[in-house]
Amino acid sequence: MSTGILTVDRLSKNFRGLAAIAEVSFAIQPRSITSIIGPNGAGKSTLFNLITGYVEPSAGEIHFHGRRITGLATNRIAELGIARAFQIARPFRDLSVHENVRIGALFGKAGARDVAATTGKSLELAGIGHLAQQPANALTVGQLRHLEVARAIATRGDLLLADEPCAGLNPTETAAMIDVLRRVRADGVTVVLVEHDMPSVMEISDRILVLDAGRLIADGAPAEVASNPQVIAAYLGSPEPEAA
Ligand code: ADP
Ligand code: MG
Repeated sequence: MSTGILTVDRLSKNFRGLAAIAEVSFAIQPRSITSIIGPNGAGKSTLFNLITGYVEPSAGEIHFHGRRITGLATNRIAELGIARAFQIARPFRDLSVHENVRIGALFGKAGARDVAATTGKSLELAGIGHLAQQPANALTVGQLRHLEVARAIATRGDLLLADEPCAGLNPTETAAMIDVLRRVRADGVTVVLVEHDMPSVMEISDRILVLDAGRLIADGAPAEVASNPQVIAAYLGSPEPEAA
């Protein structure tokens, strides 16, 4: 197994006989942007749930900065530096954008004295500094996605897992989110994202992992993965892979 900021080694998760993740291994290099793609139900969110401790693996190991994190509690994993932007954000809707992000800073790695600075910086990185005093319930869907990323990075993790941050966004909003992820990486954070918009994935990713029915069927540079016949058959070639 090669070293990386995050290494996943023969990871499996069965839900009553369903192999949601099956013997998946990979390593994530520091300061890279990796996209995880695959059809609906492929196991992408389960993989994030396993890495963040929301779900216990049936088998396999996860290491973060060389330390075994398999089986640790979610808050412990967050404290060690894995931040997650959820697919469905649940902000405190009556609190301001600033207060929501500040809560991320309070519960993360930032020391008490760093909370204000971390909050401000996270708002700026996520491109929502101008919305800081708005109540969260005044935000558009796109702005809420930015708030969720700001809240996640305010925990000061050095690995950000972003689950479909562009889902439901229009092309302009998608481009804005991709810019945010680039800025986050430029700030020193390693990014792993689940994303369906292939032009965005091809543009932003150093590397792409492809999951299909719980198995890792490809792992490589964007051009390599896009021309992989197995990937085309499983995903890229199928029309409307995310249609319900
Ligand atoms: P993706 O995010 O790639 O769309 P998921 O990881 O959400 O896929 O789901 C992978 C498979 O695991 C699906 O068949 C899903 O129904 C199943 N699954 C996910 N979470 C659970 C759970 N907590 N209990 C039972 N089955 C689950
Ligand atoms: Mg999912």
